[in-house]
Order: sequence, then structure tokens, then C-alpha cells
Amino acid sequence: REVVDAAPMAEEKAMEAALRPKALGDFVGQQTVRHQLSLVLQSSRLRGAAADHVLLSGPPGLGKTTLAMIIAAEMDASLRVTSGPAIQHSGDLAAILSSLTEGEVLFVDEIHRMARPAEEMLYMAMEDFRVDIVVGKGAGATSIPLELPQFTLVGATTRAGLLPGPLRDRFGFTGHLEYYGVGELEHVLRRSAELLQVQATDAGFAEIASRSRGTPRVTNRLLRRVRDWALVHEVDLVDDDAAAEALDTYEVDRRGLDRLDRAVLEALCSTFRGGPVGLSTLAILVGEETETVETVAEPYLVREGLLARTPRGRVATEAAWRHLGLEPPEQGAP
Ligand code: ADP
Repeated sequence: REVVDAAPMAEEKAMEAALRPKALGDFVGQQTVRHQLSLVLQSSRLRGAAADHVLLSGPPGLGKTTLAMIIAAEMDASLRVTSGPAIQHSGDLAAILSSLTEGEVLFVDEIHRMARPAEEMLYMAMEDFRVDIVVGKGAGATSIPLELPQFTLVGATTRAGLLPGPLRDRFGFTGHLEYYGVGELEHVLRRSAELLQVQATDAGFAEIASRSRGTPRVTNRLLRRVRDWALVHEVDLVDDDAAAEALDTYEVDRRGLDRLDRAVLEALCSTFRGGPVGLSTLAILVGEETETVETVAEPYLVREGLLARTPRGRVATEAAWRHLGLEPPEQGAP
């Protein structure tokens, strides 16, 4: 998909690397998490010990990877990066753990997608800094205990609820990242615009920020699309009209909804008369995986008051009907 995608493209990767804030003080927004995390890090520095394990949860593009890098930088430690889907056997994890050095930060993105046997190995590693490596098979199998250096695990997940309890409990600190406010996104935008050499008016920045789905990754992506539009249309200074026209071209609407967001609302309203509908039915109808609908589209639609979760399923709110330009059904109508 064009606007929100868990896997960034090449230009985006290069730009993300250039734009990532390097210190906690440069990280925009997320006041609560930033404050809590700074206490965890300061204390560990004072104690001269590795920081407690940190779990970061929240929708894609809100800064979990960036924070992991900042944690390593603030601890003056090196960072190892891997992801849940890359750890399908306990051997994959054993290889990583056994090569860690003292104080290193291990970042596991999408940690909820790690294989079960690896998860169990991780429990022990997190708690006792030790793993048992099983050698051989069947009756001849023996396990060899292996001491690990003190390390800090930083796990990222789109939903902490997807993690098994025993794993969640072993994190000393869990930070939940929230969607960003428009003002915070403008802050991110100005920094990116300087790097991309895009000139915009205050209203131009505000227009891009307000269509950014509360997400820094999206705001950076929209800025690049506005840059393209401005370049081709020979617009030197992007004002709100120019930004709006550019983003309309890319089907990002005034509320920042992208094609998937709208597809979900349209399926709910047009096919199911507003719901309630089960999540998996909804996912099939929009041609996406259930997890994508649940962790990418839904949280934003809920935050915007366009979708509600009820025990019987997902329901479109009156605002959703109006946003699609439809008349909400009469209360109590069949
Ligand atoms: P996640 O790991 O949660 O999917 P990332 O950490 O990869 O998100 O962030 C995506 C992009 O958004 C990066 O380019 C990053 O620089 C930018 N970004 C995220 N959070 C912030 C922030 N608080 N301030 C500035 N830029 C941010």
C-alpha cells in the first residue's frame, strides 16, 4: 500500500536513517514514555548496570525502532537488530544470544511473531542471563548451560496484547506509544523539510501534518509526495492549497485516512449496514490480513471516533457514515 506500510521502501529507509533523532532529548512528543524511559536509563547508568528490559508497543511508524536506537546510544552500548519473524527456531535465537557482548542492546522488532520454542529460551535469557543449548536428538540429547553477558532486550510490538503473559511479565518497563498530535508532527515535518529542501508555509506544514494519521513515518512519506508534486508543478513554496491538492492526488483524505482505512469503513457501512462485523470477515472483505486491519487501520479509526469495538464485532459510528458522504441509517432501523 502507498501510505502506511510496515516495510519501508529504499528511499524511505535512507531518509529514516538520516532523520532518526539520535538522543532522547531530540525525540519529539511521547512525553510520558520519554520521561519514564529516561529514569530507567539514568538509574542504570548510576548503578553501572545494563538497563532493565524494555517493551515498546504501539502502531507502526510511531518511533519504536528509533527509541531502541536511542536507548543504545544513551547507554553508550552497541545495538543488535533482529525481528520476531527471523527467529523461527530456538537455534536462531541461541546464535544471537551467545554472540552478545556485555551491556549490548538487543532489539527484537515484531517480537510477538517469534516462534514458541525460541520464546521459552528467551524467558530464561532475560531473567537469568543464561540459556540451555540442547545438543543431539532423542534419548541422547543433552543440554549444555551457557552463561550470557548482561544485556538489555528491547522488544517492539504493534500490540502488547499479542504477547504471551510470561514474556510480557519479564520486561521491567513497558512503554506504550500514542499517536502524535498535529503540532508534534509539524515539528517532525520542519526538520525533514530542511533535509529534503522543501519550502512550505506554516499552513502548508499544518495541512500535511493534519493528514498524517498521527504517525511520523507517514508524515515523512507525505512530505516526499508533496515534494514530488511541487517539483513537477514548479511550485517553490508549498502552501495549504498546494499541499491539499498534492495529497488529494495520492488519495490521502482530509482526516488522513488512506485507502485501507476507507476500505474498512466502506465495507462496514456499505456491505454490513454499519455492523457489527467480526474482524476476520472485515479483513477478508478488504483483502488484508486480520493482523494488519487490527494493528494498522483499526487503532486509528477508533481514535478518530469512526469505528467502535463492541463485544459483537466492529461497528461504524455515525461520523464514519458522514465521512464517507453517506446518510447514517435511522436508529433502530432494520
Ligand atoms: P516504528 O519502529 O515504531 O515502526 P520508527 O522508529 O521506524 O517506527 O519511526 C519511523 C520514522 O518516523 C523514522 O523515520 C523516524 O525518524 C520517524 N520518527 C518516529 N518517531 C519520531 C519522533 N518522536 N520524532 C521524530 N521522528 C520520529
